[in-house]
Amino acid sequence: MRVAVIGTGYVGLVVGACLAETGNDVVGADVDAAKIAKLQENELPIYEPGLGEIVERNQQQERLAFTTDVPSAIAGAEVVFIAVGTPPDEDGSCDLTHVLAVAELIGMHMTREIVIVTKSTVPVGTTARVWEVVGRHAKYTFHLCSNPEFLKEGAAVNDFMRPDRVVLGVESDHARSVMTELYAPFVRVGKPIIFMDIRSAELTKYAANAMLATRISFMNEMAAICEQVGANVDLVRKGIGSDQRIGPAFLFPGPGYGGSCFPKDVKALLCTAESLQRPLRVMQAVHEANERQKHRLFELLAEAFQGDLEGKRIAVWGLAFKPQTDDMRDAPALVLINDLLGAGVSVVAHDPVALREAKHRLGDAIDYATSSYDALTGADALVVVTDWNEYRNPDFRRIKQALKRPLIIDGRSLYERQKLAGLGIEYISIGRPRLAPLPEAATPALAEFGRPVPIVAAADSSGVGQTGRVPPRREPERPRRPQKRQPSVAPSTISAA
Ligand code: NAD
Repeated sequence: MRVAVIGTGYVGLVVGACLAETGNDVVGADVDAAKIAKLQENELPIYEPGLGEIVERNQQQERLAFTTDVPSAIAGAEVVFIAVGTPPDEDGSCDLTHVLAVAELIGMHMTREIVIVTKSTVPVGTTARVWEVVGRHAKYTFHLCSNPEFLKEGAAVNDFMRPDRVVLGVESDHARSVMTELYAPFVRVGKPIIFMDIRSAELTKYAANAMLATRISFMNEMAAICEQVGANVDLVRKGIGSDQRIGPAFLFPGPGYGGSCFPKDVKALLCTAESLQRPLRVMQAVHEANERQKHRLFELLAEAFQGDLEGKRIAVWGLAFKPQTDDMRDAPALVLINDLLGAGVSVVAHDPVALREAKHRLGDAIDYATSSYDALTGADALVVVTDWNEYRNPDFRRIKQALKRPLIIDGRSLYERQKLAGLGIEYISIGRPRLAPLPEAATPALAEFGRPVPIVAAADSSGVGQTGRVPPRREPERPRRPQKRQPSVAPSTISAA
């Protein structure tokens, strides 16, 4: 089938490459000339495991081409996917400018009967607006399909090739049969294509992301309770996740959800609900809890330094909003870095693939390290933000040696508390009881169990224990490097919190 994919970002590129891989003739079109030039040279503008090989193979075999000439891509296609960005508008609602601009071009340049697929995440009713805009110009019959995308960045190729399900909102037999043919190779193992009306398909995408975001904010709040009462969120998670009605996925507490989808889709859904005068109270709370959670790592650090952060140097491991991607859109690391810079801290960061993106966003506001251990030299403490594989089993003795104060704040609960206590490392993770570090000479038996640290004092409404004085935070803006000062000497013992 001859397919045009308009927009070659994270989604459009994966969709186009995977459709070419299954034998279709695909043209990926984008207004970003630099991006297209790179793609024509088989250079990926994003980091996505496995995608480079597919792009290269299919370009070589002439099933995949890239162009900035959007009208010509449309003119040659039987199926046109709209996969352009739908960023949040100032009020959080979904900005449809790009989608509707492409709809206009489709209406003007189609040369035969086509199926138009909205792949971008769009509020209910958008596909109907696309219909209207295309219809103003169209000289041929056209059919609409809403086909929300559920891929996860970092596992996008696998998710597209082996989806849990394909959701297709169609309202004509032609669209149904064309889309069934296109997706047949991806559902051969028996995963379903779920057909529905267009509005239900549009809403399904928001409902899915809203549910996932809810689980994350729920667990972050459970983790905060665990910290207060001395319970362990790991055990609570296992205890509830084994219930079939709940299931184990998406129950890990952390520094808050980020990325290009959850934050913007939750906000867009809230806006839709507000415009309908049907407020979504649960989702409002999920959003607010997440906004607070993004400051949690900074608060834990400030507490550990008893509010005395000014002049310190902090190493940050992980900048991307999750592992296996270089995407930093709405990444929790950005909020942490902004808080740190606002408190007069100098920051040195490492990420296996997101450094280029980080430099683009943060410029010289922070220092960058090309190896995770280089980031530690001269740093007062380490904060782990993203759970990249290479951070999972590091050389703790080397970390301890490099840091001025052997303190790790772990936003992803990657490490064994007993092991770190045994090594004399102060270790603070989210939702798990803390163990006081033992002197290195401690017996192995003692080292294995560590000593429990007394339960933290009751938190105030900001979630900070009363034992910690937290310096003021700045509202998000483009971060600036703090004035250079002589770092003060860090206290050598952890506070009771
Ligand atoms: P992106 O920003 O990475 O890519 C969008 C691309 O569209 C850019 O390359 C941009 O240059 C191009 N573009 C914008 N206007 C255009 C126009 N008029 N003509 C041609 N190209 C144009 O965005 P993305 O992450 O790929 O997301 C695309 C859509 O898919 C969004 O609606 C998003 O919510 C949705 N989505 C994203 C993901 C994800 O994980 N990234 C997952 C599911 C759904």
